[in-house]
Amino acid sequence: MPREILVTSALPYANGRIHLGHIVEHVQSDIWVRAMRMAGHTVHYVCADDAHGTSIMLRAEKEGITPEALIDGVWKEHTADLRDFGVAYDHYSSTHTEANRELTYRIWRALEANGHVESKPVKQLFDPERQMFLPDRFIKGECPVCHSKDQYGDACEVCGSTYNPIDLIDPYSVVSGAKPVEKESLHFFVKLADFEVLLKTWLQERRAAGGLQAEVVNKLQEWFAGGLRSWDVSRDAPYFGFEIPGQPGKYFYVWVDAPVGYLAAFRELCERGSKPDLKPADFERFIRAGSDTDMVHFIGKDIIYFHTLFWPAMLHGAGLGMPTAVNVHGFLTVDGAKMSKSRGTFVNARTYLDHLDADWLRYYLATMLGPTLADIDLDLKAFEERVNSHLVGKWVNIASRCAGFVHKFFDGKLADTLPETARARYDAAAARLEACAALYEARDYAAAVRLIIEVADEANAYVADHAPWVMAKDESRRDELHIVLTLALNYFRLLTIWLSPAVPATATRAFEFLDDRPARFDAARAPLLGHAIKPFAPLATRIDPNRITAMIEASKESLQVKSNPSPPNSPLEGEGSKARAAASPSPESRVPSPETISIDDFARLDLRIGKVLACEAVDGSDKLLRFELDAGELGRRQILSGIRAAYADPSKLVGRHVVFIANLAPRKMRFGVSEGMILSAGTGGNELFLLDVDAGARAGMPVK
Ligand SMILES: [Zn+2]
Repeated sequence: MPREILVTSALPYANGRIHLGHIVEHVQSDIWVRAMRMAGHTVHYVCADDAHGTSIMLRAEKEGITPEALIDGVWKEHTADLRDFGVAYDHYSSTHTEANRELTYRIWRALEANGHVESKPVKQLFDPERQMFLPDRFIKGECPVCHSKDQYGDACEVCGSTYNPIDLIDPYSVVSGAKPVEKESLHFFVKLADFEVLLKTWLQERRAAGGLQAEVVNKLQEWFAGGLRSWDVSRDAPYFGFEIPGQPGKYFYVWVDAPVGYLAAFRELCERGSKPDLKPADFERFIRAGSDTDMVHFIGKDIIYFHTLFWPAMLHGAGLGMPTAVNVHGFLTVDGAKMSKSRGTFVNARTYLDHLDADWLRYYLATMLGPTLADIDLDLKAFEERVNSHLVGKWVNIASRCAGFVHKFFDGKLADTLPETARARYDAAAARLEACAALYEARDYAAAVRLIIEVADEANAYVADHAPWVMAKDESRRDELHIVLTLALNYFRLLTIWLSPAVPATATRAFEFLDDRPARFDAARAPLLGHAIKPFAPLATRIDPNRITAMIEASKESLQVKSNPSPPNSPLEGEGSKARAAASPSPESRVPSPETISIDDFARLDLRIGKVLACEAVDGSDKLLRFELDAGELGRRQILSGIRAAYADPSKLVGRHVVFIANLAPRKMRFGVSEGMILSAGTGGNELFLLDVDAGARAGMPVK
């Protein structure tokens, strides 16, 4: 049954460039949209820039321009980058539009009218110099748990603790450096508890229907465990966003109007008349509760709860339909590690496009993308090999080896019919590839591409077995040659049809060569016969590895040359969870990768001498030894250390000295709390050697 589907990708934050982490998601949704259309569904595909929030306000201020000017410039960059990656949105808008303001107000008023809104005073840290409340990410200070300096207001990057910004020791404002003061302000909340039962039912129902991954639903159980708390949706001026109606000086938190932006962009699309199958009235038809149309979101795993708790609650609370599916993907890594600016693997979309072909990356990502939340690794060597071997070697080569003979001997025309065996061969391959439609729909692109490449192997074996270049030398075998070329080029067309969602630009060139424009997968059922093809022009070239190297080098340079007044991924790129969402998928954190560290970094480690008072094997663990250390002025410490394999008789360690990290956050393990880490040299297993210290050292002495 053909469906009508609205598809969105997460809105890129309008305060940074599109990088390859974003591209994973836009390519994933674009492939899905193309495949669903070719399967006969009607799909509307929209996105927008997420243009509000403190970070955008502050960055515009820093650059001496208006926030509107800032987001306009970014919008132009974003749309050009996505277009050049072949990501074909029907409409790409911004959340800073009248359509979005209207719709946000409409949803808000309905939430209020239905009794889902409450207000209460909230104590928050306030920058007295800049006269603004500080989002968590705009406050730094000493971690209350491990006492590391310069940690953000919501979480410590050293020990991983999360806390309230009010608990930071010696906090300071990232905006002005001033010491923040506590101040009270009235905030507005959406009462999520009103939706608890509804959301639980929706999650289970969507999981059963394939609209939510089991991993996602499981993750959300944690949120329900303690009961859903009301969601704080207001921010005080100064703020760049939409003012809450009737509440001067209060603004909607950026995460309120961001998802509404999906619908506002869709409404603009309905009203602009650019799609013949979409009229203004379709907007209400799509968004009403109980609609038989689908709403499908593609997002990264860092913004799950915004899309599976807040967003459906808001929609339902306002009397609108909830999403049909929220498809979550993992983050992009490069060569097995987080994208890193210092290694040059944090690659902006434009830098990639300056050096390499968009379809190459699209193809590689297709070979890696599955329906799970697993991270996707861009292994640069595998990328090069796969593109060269699959796209050029197995696919394009079929056409390049056969096209010349068709023009030379047959006036560029394919045979009128295929004999039974050849036709049976074609039909079997075509039938086999029909499984790809379901694989694309299930977002298992990796499995779809594997199947396509298997058929490509079969096609290449056919060409190699029949060696048209040998046949061509024998005038008496012309008819036979014509059949071989016709079947080979139909194999090529078949592969092109099924690869086209992944590599649309290359597929378009291939169809131009075939002089054929199949719009549906089912066009593959009938081979092209008695049909004239165009002269062959190269469709894709091999990757020159030097271009990959050049891209990596350019990514290193762009860090040095184009560095902004604000450091990369500084808190100025977002606020609170928005910061992490904006920076997603998974760029390296603020700290450059640890090739070198400063003396200050080293000084943050409190290394001490400990004297072993007791040491024993931990029952139930084959790895751990439990140490009790005399840590001098620090008192006694219990440390669990995974060195059991290296020390068969732990009692022999009693009385000796060890070196340990004293300011590592205490870690609760299954076998008890470990209050630090004992250092040892070696590679692990039984190859581990505790460090010792010369005579004279005493328990508790610092190691510097
Ligand atoms: Zn900490």
